[in-house]
Amino acid sequence: MSGENAASSPLRAESIAKWDRDADVVIVGYGGAGACAAIEAARAGASVLLLERAGGGGGTTAMSAGHLYLGGGTRVQKATGYEDSPENMRDYLMQCSDDPDEEKVEIYCNNSVEHFEWLVELGVPFRDSILEERVMMQRTDDGVIWSGNEKAWPFREHATPAPRGHKPQAEEEGGPLLFAKLHEAAQAAGAEALYDTAVQTLVLADDGRVVGVMARHMGEELAVRARRGVVLCSGGFALNESMLRHHMPRIAGKVESIGNPYDDGAGILMGMAARGTSIHMSEYHITLPHYPPSSLTKGILVNGQGQRFVNEDCYHGRIGAYCALQPGGIVYLIADNAHFGWPELRDFELAETAESIAELEEALGIPDGMLQHSVEVYNRHAKEGRDPVFHKQETWLAPIEEPPFAALDCRLGKAPYMAFPLGGLWTRPTGEVLTAEGQPVAGLYAAGRTTCGISRSAEGYASGTCIADATYFGRLAGRRVASASPA
Ligand SMILES: Cc1cc2nc3c(=O)[nH]c(=O)nc-3n(C[C@H](O)[C@H](O)[C@H](O)COP(=O)(O)OP(=O)(O)OC[C@H]3O[C@@H](n4cnc5c(N)ncnc54)[C@H](O)[C@@H]3O)c2cc1C
Repeated sequence: MSGENAASSPLRAESIAKWDRDADVVIVGYGGAGACAAIEAARAGASVLLLERAGGGGGTTAMSAGHLYLGGGTRVQKATGYEDSPENMRDYLMQCSDDPDEEKVEIYCNNSVEHFEWLVELGVPFRDSILEERVMMQRTDDGVIWSGNEKAWPFREHATPAPRGHKPQAEEEGGPLLFAKLHEAAQAAGAEALYDTAVQTLVLADDGRVVGVMARHMGEELAVRARRGVVLCSGGFALNESMLRHHMPRIAGKVESIGNPYDDGAGILMGMAARGTSIHMSEYHITLPHYPPSSLTKGILVNGQGQRFVNEDCYHGRIGAYCALQPGGIVYLIADNAHFGWPELRDFELAETAESIAELEEALGIPDGMLQHSVEVYNRHAKEGRDPVFHKQETWLAPIEEPPFAALDCRLGKAPYMAFPLGGLWTRPTGEVLTAEGQPVAGLYAAGRTTCGISRSAEGYASGTCIADATYFGRLAGRRVASASPA
């Protein structure tokens, strides 16, 4: 376990000689989920204390691009000419995992427009415009982008494509603006925040109910009583190397795991120590940041056997997920002179270049004839405007025929993949942390990346689902805990 804050076993309430602070609702972590839980709990009349390990609020939410996956017919979707409905959004999201949380997906889709309006009321601005380009980082202040696999096969066969990646109106990252507005609203609602306060353990009554936390504040021990409940909103475990190795051995150490420095899994571990259970801990979002330029989408991705394995017009997260599954992590992006371009965002290397596909195949050590076969089949169909093997959209089909040919090195451990985990505590939509038997742990709630939310599969991840999940289910947890009976 890394970091001084590795969560320890819960303390018994009887061992606390004196509570230093108390509140109806104690929220651990002041990022997106914590702020939204605080706003709703305080607006419902509860006294709220946010305990934040860093010197200020924000967490990963404030360093993020700020995309929120919102749909079902938002103002921005309508203004940009896209039709969507809660049912259509649900049909899409249900395809995004082999084990979707149907209840959360349903509630989220039914209330996504309301959540959009709620954010607007808090002062989060969204422009009524769309950026149609295939981008990874949005460097414009347009209100919405295509941030998932909506247009790609097989998703387009299950739901009508609609763009849902809403970004607060900012030229660069939208996360700072989003968090600033959440912070203003939490303060206005009367929530109090205590910074430089690392929560280390939960405190349990004899019957197992969570009644408070122990924290370290400016080097001093602090016992904080929670009359109605504790909400764990302390982010995920992207920066805990030991947990990454344990749960995600396929990619750990071979990709850059991204998050804020306090993403050490403390909330998940504290919840588990109080009998909560964690789910989907081996799932992650992994990205291969190879576009822009979008022209590379006209190339093909092949593994060490020279075989294609995915439609290259997918969202970069789905592509990253399939790349990570290839034997030995060996993947090359093959492009010809007409379509090759250096990825704009991160450093990539060329594995090989050659004047013919046969020479490229040999230089890459791909078995004789395999790459030539893949390119020949792909080209034959591309000239007819179709891809019967992986159903890439016609817009992205072009024969690979103009020498020289290049193989962009997309091998795991070589290419600049970035990832973060998606697993966390098992919760109800209203935030109750559940035991392995599906029973709520009394007094304990969680939201955001500390939990396993609606985005729970590498193949189905869409940008915006983390912050949408953290902010929306943070709100529900805040409301629920505020209405709980006091201990
Ligand atoms: C570079 C980057 C860009 C991203 N862009 C997007 C995007 O555009 N859209 C999207 O949906 N997702 C995005 N994500 C993911 C998303 O930002 C996070 O999943 C989400 O913000 C998590 O919100 P949260 O409230 O759960 O956690 P956070 O916002 O990280 O808040 C957790 C807080 O808890 C505090 N904390 C931790 N441990 C303790 C403790 N023991 N005691 C007290 N406090 C503690 C932390 O300091 C932090 O302030 C991005 C991630 C990265 C790294």
